[in-house]
Amino acid sequence: MADTIYTIPVSEAFEADCECPVCELKKRFENSTVEYFAGPSLMEPDTRIVTNDLGFCGRHFNMLYNSQAKKLGLGLMLDTYMQEQLKRIKKYAQAKDTTNYEEDALPGAEAGEERSGKRKKFSLFGGKNASKPAASQPLVRYLRAHEKECAVCKKLDYTMDRYVDIIFHMYKTDRDFRAKFRSSKGFCVPHTALLLEESGKKLGGSTRDEFRDTVTSLLVTNLERIEGEVDWFTKKFDYRNAEADWGNSRDALPRGILKMTGDTDIIK
Ligand SMILES: [Zn+2]
Ligand SMILES: [Zn+2]
Repeated sequence: MADTIYTIPVSEAFEADCECPVCELKKRFENSTVEYFAGPSLMEPDTRIVTNDLGFCGRHFNMLYNSQAKKLGLGLMLDTYMQEQLKRIKKYAQAKDTTNYEEDALPGAEAGEERSGKRKKFSLFGGKNASKPAASQPLVRYLRAHEKECAVCKKLDYTMDRYVDIIFHMYKTDRDFRAKFRSSKGFCVPHTALLLEESGKKLGGSTRDEFRDTVTSLLVTNLERIEGEVDWFTKKFDYRNAEADWGNSRDALPRGILKMTGDTDIIK
């Protein structure tokens, strides 16, 4: 359980000066996963099987594209990925639609149009098929399922689940970690919700109650702190405060946005 592959990054994230250690873990793992796919692994046959199958979402293609000084590796990967997807798209485009439309037929749709004198629009699939619900067509089903896939997101989802398990495991068993957890700046709003939800499954009895109190009070205390910093940021625009010290307010906006949304892209 307490595998160092997971415990070391978790400990390091809780030592980092940040507004959410879970966001920090996610950002670090996302960057290293993108680096992994942008590196020599792109040319490995096993990796190519995965990338041809899953591809990447727009965010991660974007990160891959921007991380590459030489675009040849990404180009080769995109080339075989598109070849594989084209093969599948052609197959699904020709696949016979086995849905029974008798059951959910749209009564009188075409007849009604004819009666009202509307000209029927030209349809690539023609006549009857034009009124079939699009989502039941094999090609649409495939495209919709495929657009949810991404080789980086898949690794990220899996690893973030492990990290959350490890956070709870270390909280239960490691005194030093619990102290680090308590003295952290807490978590962003979405990760606070995640930890509170998971605490029901991962902890019991008094430890669970104590964990929930800790996470909740970390959220409130640190929201008050950042809100104060955002407030001072706005007051600094008043000429009477021009000479006053910025305090911690210079970067209060990105930190406030991260705290409220869990979006780490805002932190430069
Ligand atoms: Zn977060
Ligand atoms: Zn992705």
